[in-house]
Amino acid sequence: MRIVLLGAPGAGKGTIAKLLTDYDGSVQISTGDILRGAVKAGTELGKKAQGYMDRGELVPDSLIMEIMESRLQEPDCKKGFLLDGFPRTIPQADALKKMLQKLNLKLDLVANIEVPKEVILDRLTTRRTCSNANCQEIYNIKSKPPTPDGKCKKCGSPVIQRADETVEAITKRLETYNEKTAPLIDYYRKEGFLKIIASTSSDEVVSGIKKAIKGKSAE
Ligand SMILES: [Zn+2]
Repeated sequence: MRIVLLGAPGAGKGTIAKLLTDYDGSVQISTGDILRGAVKAGTELGKKAQGYMDRGELVPDSLIMEIMESRLQEPDCKKGFLLDGFPRTIPQADALKKMLQKLNLKLDLVANIEVPKEVILDRLTTRRTCSNANCQEIYNIKSKPPTPDGKCKKCGSPVIQRADETVEAITKRLETYNEKTAPLIDYYRKEGFLKIIASTSSDEVVSGIKKAIKGKSAE
């Protein structure tokens, strides 16, 4: 399957992506990963990207698209790919559309995972992270607590709540996300790719995506 996965921070995209890629052998692709991959492989494009990063600048969309174009042509993408966190803007969505046309590839679906704000707040404000930079083990005070005195079970360092995981910070992140993503959702609705899946269960989201793709291929 070829999918774009949209969803707010805390919507569970990581888990869902893992279930989907395990299911059909497609590859999860995020811009962060492919940039790091290109830099590490030392390709021409990777060297260009490294230049921007060394100067503390954002890697321009045009370069990201070039790197993504070459990534999508690697053999492991034959079974499909799942774009995670990309596109984020209308210009990126337009560029992606042109690139896929050029490669003669068609998206199956753009899945927008909707999870109520209260659930996301509960998921993210209960997270704790080991303060040891070399460990950074993730805990959850409900489902995976640290030691009773708040220490990391792996390395013994204090476990902390990250500044971007407080109620205020997450509320702000969700507002920003919704503002930025709303136009993208409209865009894909008009293109006829959008499927909204409202569920807090990863298994339900995954079966919803599979069903939507089957329905599309039967059209
Ligand atoms: Zn630790």
